[in-house]
Amino acid sequence: MTNAGMEEQSSYDHVLTAEYSSLIAMEFGRNPIVNDEAAFDIYPSPTRPNPSTLPLRPPIVTIMGHVDHGKTTLLDKLRSTSVAKGEAGGITQHIGAFSVPVPASSGEGPKTITFLDTPGHAAFSAMRARGASVTDIVVLVVAADDGIMPQTREVLDLIQREKLNAVVAINKIDKPGVDIENVQNALLAEGVQLESFGGDIPCVPVSGLTGKGLDDLVETISLIAETRELRAEQEGDIQGYVLESKIRKGLGPVATVLLLRGCLKPSAHVICGTHHGRVRSMLDSSDKAVKAAYPGMAVTVTGWKSLPKAGDEVLQGTEADVKKAIANRERKADLEATMEDLEVINEQRRLERDRREAEAAEEAPSSPVVRHPEQQGPKELRLVVKGDVSGSVEAVVGALQCIGNKEACVKIISSGVGDVTESDVLRAQAAQGTIVAFTVSTPRSVEVLAKQHSVPLVSSKIIYSLIDDIRSSVIQLLPPII
Ligand code: GDP
Repeated sequence: MTNAGMEEQSSYDHVLTAEYSSLIAMEFGRNPIVNDEAAFDIYPSPTRPNPSTLPLRPPIVTIMGHVDHGKTTLLDKLRSTSVAKGEAGGITQHIGAFSVPVPASSGEGPKTITFLDTPGHAAFSAMRARGASVTDIVVLVVAADDGIMPQTREVLDLIQREKLNAVVAINKIDKPGVDIENVQNALLAEGVQLESFGGDIPCVPVSGLTGKGLDDLVETISLIAETRELRAEQEGDIQGYVLESKIRKGLGPVATVLLLRGCLKPSAHVICGTHHGRVRSMLDSSDKAVKAAYPGMAVTVTGWKSLPKAGDEVLQGTEADVKKAIANRERKADLEATMEDLEVINEQRRLERDRREAEAAEEAPSSPVVRHPEQQGPKELRLVVKGDVSGSVEAVVGALQCIGNKEACVKIISSGVGDVTESDVLRAQAAQGTIVAFTVSTPRSVEVLAKQHSVPLVSSKIIYSLIDDIRSSVIQLLPPII
């Protein structure tokens, strides 16, 4: 196993994938057209910042390892050394992350390191399930007196699978009789390419209990971060993730937001899932007010109208955009709930039918139940889809053809770009289908023809309401209870 992520020389935190930016555009009620060439151009070229000129951001580090190998002790030590002397004794809030300063002598790297302190937390599983990993570097803790254990292997698998940068911390070196070399050999046997053996995974002996080796660990992390060139915009709208959220007395719903991009300030409008708010204040782990938060920082944000969920993404927009996106997201959530209801209704219908058939068979055991021959396969809602550009036709076809189940579903007869034409009507009529016109118009004469041939025509400019309409039509195709 190597530090594969190191090969990527930099991480451009302002670049979004075409798919992701399309989704955001749809959330804000726009109709995205994906042009592969332009997909990464979120700025017009004269204003596009050169990624390598963006400021460095602190690396985000997660400590992982087998139970009892000393993760909590190590985190506590790192945290306590990071709390300024003047604040010692002051009450610190647990906010899911803390910052450790990097000594100035450690080169051109970041000034601080952000440690996440709840790696087993639900928020992380939620983020990972969505393929969003906020971790740049994993510190794998291996207790020198225990060696490689099952959870150590799980972490090694994760590092390899997600191509994460890693540092091995061989812990508990203060214990008498421990053999660091033994642990290193065991790691080599697992395929871990340690730096001291010509590989690129550093290995640092430490003691979370005494603090020995922690400076080396911080320096090693900072060196990896320097090589990775973790850079992010420190201005403009933010992107971040909720680490924790709760209701706090006197503050209402609060959420710790880990920022990855942009600058968060009070009075910003933020959205997270179907929750939103206007930032009233931001607090650090000592509950001190923060005026502006930057990438790599975790701050407790107050001002939410309701409680956001840990692991969800936080974005910023104008008040109107946030409102619009909330309406769309709520609608989407409703649709998903409808789909689940649909499954439940189907299951109930199936059970009811089975019960009636069983009853009928019991009542007339000598005469076989006479059944009407059933139509083979699911009932189909056949569609002829027209849209204004190929991107939107693809998006509509992609969304509509997922609707349905084993008993009733959508079948796309044809799809194309442009206004609805007479041949679309004839094609739909031949297939006993419906025409879907997405953001295109239908000439009056074609409308008349469709009416004459009893071809239904569904026009829409909003993909969610179109999905809604088509879903209702599919529901109507479901067999009634006999
Ligand atoms: P976790 O389950 O990985 O979070 O492990 P903990 O941090 O809870 O540590 C498990 C046990 O190992 C505790 O009894 C710690 O006091 C002890 N421990 C942790 N780090 C060290 C260390 O560096 N040296 C020694 N001697 N004991 C340690």
